Amino acid sequence: MGTEVVRRESMKADFLAADVPLRDWDNSCVWHPFTPMSAWKDESAPIIQRAQGFYLIDTDGREYLDGISSLWCNVHGHTVPEIDNAVREQLQKVAHSTLLGLASEPSIRLAKALTDRAPTGLTRVFYSDSGATTVEVALKMAYQFHRQKPEGRSEERDTFLCIGNAYHGDTLGTVSVGGIDLFHRCYKHLLFPTLTVPSPVALRVPDGYTRETWIQRCFDEVSERIRTHHHRLAAVVMEPIVQGAAGILVHPPGYLRHVRNLCTEFDVLLIADEVAVGFGRTGTLFACEREDVSPDFLCLAKGISGGYLPLGATLATERIFEAFLGDPWQGRTFFHGHTYTGNALGCAAGLASLQLFEQRQVTDNVEQCSGRIAQKLSVLLKHPNVAEIRQCGMMVGIELVQDRETLTPFPVEFRLGHQVTLAARRRGVILRPLGDVIVLMPAPGMNYENVEKICDVAIESIQEVTDDAVRRVTRSG
Ligand SMILES: *Cc1c(COP(=O)(O)O)cnc(C)c1O
Repeated sequence: MGTEVVRRESMKADFLAADVPLRDWDNSCVWHPFTPMSAWKDESAPIIQRAQGFYLIDTDGREYLDGISSLWCNVHGHTVPEIDNAVREQLQKVAHSTLLGLASEPSIRLAKALTDRAPTGLTRVFYSDSGATTVEVALKMAYQFHRQKPEGRSEERDTFLCIGNAYHGDTLGTVSVGGIDLFHRCYKHLLFPTLTVPSPVALRVPDGYTRETWIQRCFDEVSERIRTHHHRLAAVVMEPIVQGAAGILVHPPGYLRHVRNLCTEFDVLLIADEVAVGFGRTGTLFACEREDVSPDFLCLAKGISGGYLPLGATLATERIFEAFLGDPWQGRTFFHGHTYTGNALGCAAGLASLQLFEQRQVTDNVEQCSGRIAQKLSVLLKHPNVAEIRQCGMMVGIELVQDRETLTPFPVEFRLGHQVTLAARRRGVILRPLGDVIVLMPAPGMNYENVEKICDVAIESIQEVTDDAVRRVTRSG
């Protein structure tokens, strides 16, 4: 045993030395998220060392245009002087202090800024540190609200209505309200039961429906479900306007408004998960604005700190907040909190980012770029392997199939979406697919020149990879 200890000591590396085998250490020590690790070693993914504007730069000095806003977070680009300075200034004061028993200046200012800009009625901000935690908080608050509300306890309000294929994060609560089978099926015995309605999208419709009658069916089904089960529902949970991780599924106009009206009629709370669609992605600061909807909870993360630091916020109405009041010994408190709740650096970045939204008129940029993206990508509309191009603002999903008539997918072992991102990377653009849906998610603040480059590279990469895949299928068939 003694020798074992000695050997381990001597193997300890100087982890700050200039010349260390980063690639080897990555392969031997880092477990990457959402990544089949058996294939990872062979991919030689860039090791990012720094960034400049909208470009990421790896340890070999190669530059890559960030076509997915570093997984949908980055809003104004990287190394933005205003945000860098705000974080630096905050760092000279204090990096973190707890919100349990203490308050902090940046968290107060950001809470005020968010409530001033959010849809009306959202007056309270509960901080956490990721998208999943913001939804988890909303679920628990909604559940507890019904047990403490002034009009009397409704213990039976113990479930949630969710939209098919939803994604709200990877904690067990958010997986319970999620519906992406590949991610979620393994954990099904650990999850709480929910009710689900189909996602209102019509690329593939069940037998007996046309696109129009299916969408109508989806509107009717959510009405029926809420009407029948409202006495059991704590809340409806949804990603408003666009379901991101499901493959950039854009809902038909009026669906969000329809759900809001039903929730109001039957006194069911509405949780809007704007983790992906918030902060300008769709062309308004918050997606709910597009249908003039005020949810009871608004979940914000990803873009909230400009994409700089892990930060999340759950906004709630005064009605919700008041149900948690009472004498401290009554136990009506929301007993929930995360260690880094309201982190000062994250909030300082968030404040600088919000200021840039206004100074640089970022939402106008999204509106302008989005029309030009649609035009640019229209060359793919007739491509034999493109099933559909879905877009809202700066969120784009291009679904690839083997046959656009039958919508037959390519064999899964082709990892077609993945191949397209490798082809794009060879051309200097970072993309990340959702299955065989190619996702373009430029930063809302990106100039059109760079947006155009992302589109061009996506088009070329799709062409290259589908040509090759079609040849493989023909050869083997
Ligand atoms: C990414 C995402 C989440 C989860 O956010 P994390 O920060 O990864 O926990 C939740 N909801 C939606 C809609 C998302 O896109």
